[in-house]
Amino acid sequence: MLILHKNNNINGLMDADAIIIGAGACGLMCAVQAGFLGKKVILLEKGAQPGAKILISGGGRCNYTNLFASDEQFISGNKHFMKSAFTQWTVEDTVNFFETYGITGKEKTLGQLFPDNKNAKDVVEVFTSLCRDMDQQIRCGAEVTDISATGEGYVVSYTKGGKSVQLLSNKVVVTTGGLPIPKMGATDFALRLARKLGLKLVETAPALVPLTITGKDEEWYARLSGNTVFCEVSNDQISFEENLLFTHWGLSGPSILQISSYWRKGETINIDLLPGQNISEILEQERSHQGKNLLSTLFNRFYTRKFTEAMSKFLPVEKPVADLTKAEMDLIHNTIHLFKVKPAGDKGYDKAEVMRGGIDTNELSSKTMECKKMPGLYFGGECVDVTGWLGGYNFQWAWASGYVIAQVL
Ligand SMILES: Cc1cc2nc3c(=O)[nH]c(=O)nc-3n(C[C@H](O)[C@H](O)[C@H](O)COP(=O)(O)OP(=O)(O)OC[C@H]3O[C@@H](n4cnc5c(N)ncnc54)[C@H](O)[C@@H]3O)c2cc1C
Repeated sequence: MLILHKNNNINGLMDADAIIIGAGACGLMCAVQAGFLGKKVILLEKGAQPGAKILISGGGRCNYTNLFASDEQFISGNKHFMKSAFTQWTVEDTVNFFETYGITGKEKTLGQLFPDNKNAKDVVEVFTSLCRDMDQQIRCGAEVTDISATGEGYVVSYTKGGKSVQLLSNKVVVTTGGLPIPKMGATDFALRLARKLGLKLVETAPALVPLTITGKDEEWYARLSGNTVFCEVSNDQISFEENLLFTHWGLSGPSILQISSYWRKGETINIDLLPGQNISEILEQERSHQGKNLLSTLFNRFYTRKFTEAMSKFLPVEKPVADLTKAEMDLIHNTIHLFKVKPAGDKGYDKAEVMRGGIDTNELSSKTMECKKMPGLYFGGECVDVTGWLGGYNFQWAWASGYVIAQVL
């Protein structure tokens, strides 16, 4: 039961079982699933419309899940934490849910599922029309400024149209997302609230983010801007085999976004520019058959001309393969298979797809996402210390955590 304390001219008093803060992927799924169980919620959304990040996701096409999603593609202080949610709400559940409401999936690469002949707008529409049908209220332009515990429940304070409103509820769900894309209205509300309540936080940082190169190498990278190379990027924790994109300020593309979530400032990244092949063997073959060919001719089979040209900074690309010395052959091997890059930094929250870190999972029940110290208060989605790889994993976490919270509202 909710009591409107002041300004009941805003939307009128309404009975509801819970307040959800943030109408993004997690909050919307939570509202809809709660509705299926006959529970009424009020969704408070700061932005002018719900699902703003869904709308821009996957280049407007929304990579809404990944067929291979499991707990293994997530970074968290507790790598087992997401298992319960992923058992309660599986990838199959995501696929079936969207199919039921007219969105069939089409796999792009590496299990990434996108709507077939539809787009992100249709994904948001699934939620908004279900909320409409089930009378789940979405109040847009409502920015929550505080939540405080009283003997009667939680007081949620928000402003809408310049007026302040307070609602009281026994159950409050915080799904206000992470820090990426501040110009879209991302806030640190969940983190601020957690600090105020004395909950532990895992240090946050931009993740799935391009990396920058500065200093003497900057120009070399900038000259390659727009070129891609299929490669394997790795550090001492993990490796990813995907495209790398050179940009004016450094490195991007899926392989770099993936490794960025595991990268810390000051660390070096290893790049294998010819994964799955052995350049030394290829050179030996070339020497015995077409030794007059220049190294650049051979490189052009694998790389763009521009990239081959740029490699002349490190390698004798204009030398015939047959004339390469043993030392040059070794240099080529090491440069191609163990190219080392020390990024200066990352492009920050303006360009990051997700936030790493967040509310420490030790503070939450993995089964219900309820805060152990604050019964009736739940956190879901990106504000929790669960960060997925690129490729639909983060939405799978948002849907799954929203679903499990809904089961207990
Ligand atoms: C450019 C881009 C592309 C992406 N593409 C993909 C993709 O294709 N696949 C994938 O899996 N993931 C993708 N992601 C990541 C994905 O969008 C997020 O992981 C996901 O949206 C997180 O869901 P959430 O509900 O936790 O947060 P959000 O979807 O960010 O929702 C949080 C909501 O809370 C609202 N809010 C914040 N503070 C307040 C407040 N104080 N009061 C009221 N409301 C508040 C915000 O306005 C927002 O609507 C992408 C991210 C970006 C930035």
